[in-house]
Amino acid sequence: MDKKGSRKVGDLVGYAEIDAFIPTKLAPYLSKGKEPREYQGIKGERLRTVKLRGAISQGLLLDLSLFGNREFAIGEDLTEIAGIVKWEPPAEFKSADAKGSFPSFIPKTDQERVQNLRDVSQFHDMTFEVTEKCEGSSMTLFVNDGEFGICSRNLLLKDDLTGSSFVDTGITFKDAIMSLGRNIAFQGELIGPAIQKNIYNLRQFQYRVFDVFDIDQQRYLSPSERSEVVKIIGATAPVIHEAFSFGDADLRTIQKTALAMADGETVIVPEIGDLKKRHLREGLVFKAQSNTRFTFKAISNEYLEKQKG
Ligand code: AMP
Ligand code: MN
Repeated sequence: MDKKGSRKVGDLVGYAEIDAFIPTKLAPYLSKGKEPREYQGIKGERLRTVKLRGAISQGLLLDLSLFGNREFAIGEDLTEIAGIVKWEPPAEFKSADAKGSFPSFIPKTDQERVQNLRDVSQFHDMTFEVTEKCEGSSMTLFVNDGEFGICSRNLLLKDDLTGSSFVDTGITFKDAIMSLGRNIAFQGELIGPAIQKNIYNLRQFQYRVFDVFDIDQQRYLSPSERSEVVKIIGATAPVIHEAFSFGDADLRTIQKTALAMADGETVIVPEIGDLKKRHLREGLVFKAQSNTRFTFKAISNEYLEKQKG
């Protein structure tokens, strides 16, 4: 989004991407004359995907003069001086729900946006497992030296938490996971009633595993190794392509291809009833088959545009 339309190719500018929470003092026009929102004590607005004059906009350009009267380097990280924080959906858990912080011996779940890729030279020999990105909440289940744990994206939860869909669902897998007899973590998305917007209209919770991490070896299992142990959990994130290759495409082509592939209907349908109607999926996650632990997400622009509220 270029507010003034006054910039030209070659100008150095600040760039913020979607889900950045932009303080009002940097861009008051984002509030469109209304009272700004507040997030983490900051007044401002969350950057969303919007359509402007027929074109999709997924970011905001900011004049460098906003950040002080000096020279800026290309690639310099302005997040802190800009006072920008990443907007996250409202947390499901309070610190009182937690037994501790997320275990340091397991990586937190995260995915880079395909739009942020820069070096794709290694892509040419890679095949990717492509799974549907499930729109729910990240849940990690692990066993480590006899201890079983249930984690939200950032917290290790108390296992006696009542009325929590995480603990209620997580605990049902406890025996199966412990029976594997190894230190291991399952990472997946919990989807279902009252989680995010339950875009699938599910009436029951589903745990869709997308990764298995070997704690002792400190590495993720490859897709084929994973399919073996994941059987005990049942559902995985839907696999859309087992081995997809971008051929020798360049960066722009790879980004365009991944985004075009991301648009489509979800394959997750409700168990029963009138709601069998399909909905747009959130997007796809690409994961290199090789052990290099190379992954990224392509969020469907069609989905983002239709998303409200
Ligand atoms: P975001 O939801 O935009 O923050 O993207 C990263 C998150 O996507 C991860 O932390 C996971 O919780 C979630 N996710 C949903 N489906 C998948 C999938 N198939 N593979 C990997 N991550 C996924
Ligand atoms: Mn998400």
